[in-house]
Amino acid sequence: MAKPVTLTIPATGKQITVPTGLFINNEFVPSVDSTETIQCINPATEEVICSVVAGSERDIDVAVAAARKAFKTTWGKNVTGFERSRLINKLADLIERDAQELAELETLNNGKPVKIARDFDIGDSVQCLRYYAGWADKILGQAIEVDNKTKLAFTRHDPIGVCGQIIPWNYPINMWSWKVAPALACGCTIVMKPSEITPLTALKLSELIVEAGFPPGVVNTVPSLGSVGGAALSSHKDVDKVAFTGSTVTGRKIMEAAAKSNLKKVSLELGGKSPQIVFESADLDQAANWVALGILYNTGQDCTAGSRLFVQDTIYERFIEIVVQKFKQLKIGNGFDESSGGGPVVSKMQYDKIFSYIESGKQAGARCVLGGEKRPGKGYFVDPTVFVDVKPDMKIVRDEIFGPVLAVARFATEEEAVELANDTSYGLGAGLHSNDASQCMRVSQALEAGTVWVNQYNLLNNNVPFGGKKQSGIGRELGSYALEEYTSVKAIHWNYGEKLDWPL
Ligand code: NAP
Ligand code: MG
Repeated sequence: MAKPVTLTIPATGKQITVPTGLFINNEFVPSVDSTETIQCINPATEEVICSVVAGSERDIDVAVAAARKAFKTTWGKNVTGFERSRLINKLADLIERDAQELAELETLNNGKPVKIARDFDIGDSVQCLRYYAGWADKILGQAIEVDNKTKLAFTRHDPIGVCGQIIPWNYPINMWSWKVAPALACGCTIVMKPSEITPLTALKLSELIVEAGFPPGVVNTVPSLGSVGGAALSSHKDVDKVAFTGSTVTGRKIMEAAAKSNLKKVSLELGGKSPQIVFESADLDQAANWVALGILYNTGQDCTAGSRLFVQDTIYERFIEIVVQKFKQLKIGNGFDESSGGGPVVSKMQYDKIFSYIESGKQAGARCVLGGEKRPGKGYFVDPTVFVDVKPDMKIVRDEIFGPVLAVARFATEEEAVELANDTSYGLGAGLHSNDASQCMRVSQALEAGTVWVNQYNLLNNNVPFGGKKQSGIGRELGSYALEEYTSVKAIHWNYGEKLDWPL
């Protein structure tokens, strides 16, 4: 089975055709040796949407071989930066053209509101592709003086080669773009493994790869179970790099597989338990808006989710009241309903995981001042939940929950706030809200995180690097920094004058 299926969008009755095969060499094909399939579920209704082919270890071999061949012949160093730029820009145009349809498909499989998928995830993806299209013909080495009369050295930033890219389900199109855009700009070829939970938009985007005119094998898409296709990519001897976004547990496995196979380069964008600190001088209404965005955006399924909130004791009760009011204003509902600001969480597994944390918070004695109860009926809906007076050793304070669950604690001094904020094994994001400029500078320096937001939260830009400190990851995505993840520096030493006397 590698035939496309026609899906009907429930809200509009509109039909979308989606490929269900593995995308290798610009064609949708069945597995070479497996009949396994992956069922895609609509998290708002719990209904099966369709099934797609689940790639096997052998399929990964075939996809890697296709990517290798393209790298050696039609891509890599065989094509100019101008041409790579042109094709990436074309792809961006096609995604922009199909934004509404892609957004509806994303909503069907992931649950997030259509307007958010279209205007944020896809809008940002188009911009990301264009940003890296701009870099494709500007990847420069250095000319280095060694000896003006006899010798010169220069560097080339060569494409690293065949890249395995393993992406999660929380931003399926966006994470696809963050990975694909810099890799293509640098001249790498790709075997993409989307999450088993949300493979549909990666398959739909693969059609656009063909339409844009990329040569066969440059981008391949192999939906597969993580323990099968993801593991095969990470341990593959002919993959030069693996880029991953997902949980810290899986990131650790990937790094281990890379080390045990061919020491392929690894970049990891992992979990977080990011703090937000609100000081007494802050604009409390604005701070509460950012706090709400920080933990409720994407229904909390966000690696940078600001899930721990520390509030100065002088404003503690007042600020919690404002936050609770803000949380009540967000409607979590079906993503096809225009009034929904957030959708269901992505799967039954995530839903159960979130509620087990909510239970553990209650058991541990944290005070639940909002949410925390299950809704009747179908769909994996979790309402915004706020626990206050939490203690540092509670599981809801230590673990990444990946849902709309906020843990609030108080602090007295700036030093205490920084201490509490940094008391985590993670270091992805951190936010602080204060109208004291010196305090903003001091605290932003002291926070241990790859990204610190001052008087805002969760906003990223394609030209600013993003990544984790501590166990939140290795390497950087976005900005010019991401180019380093997809290039390998070669130094060429050139002698045009020195004679070597021999023997020494
Ligand atoms: P996950 O296991 O990290 O999944 C992310 C990607 O890794 C998926 O494509 C997954 O494939 C793949 N994968 C799984 N096992 C693998 C292996 N052994 N080798 C290589 N690739 C593998 O995340 P999850 O299980 O879906 O979610 C669990 C938790 O991870 C969440 O609750 C959340 O805390 C965290 N998470 C973080 C992010 C983030 O943005 N940082 C994103 C997603 C999840 P399959 O989908 O086929 O398993
Ligand atoms: Mg998984």
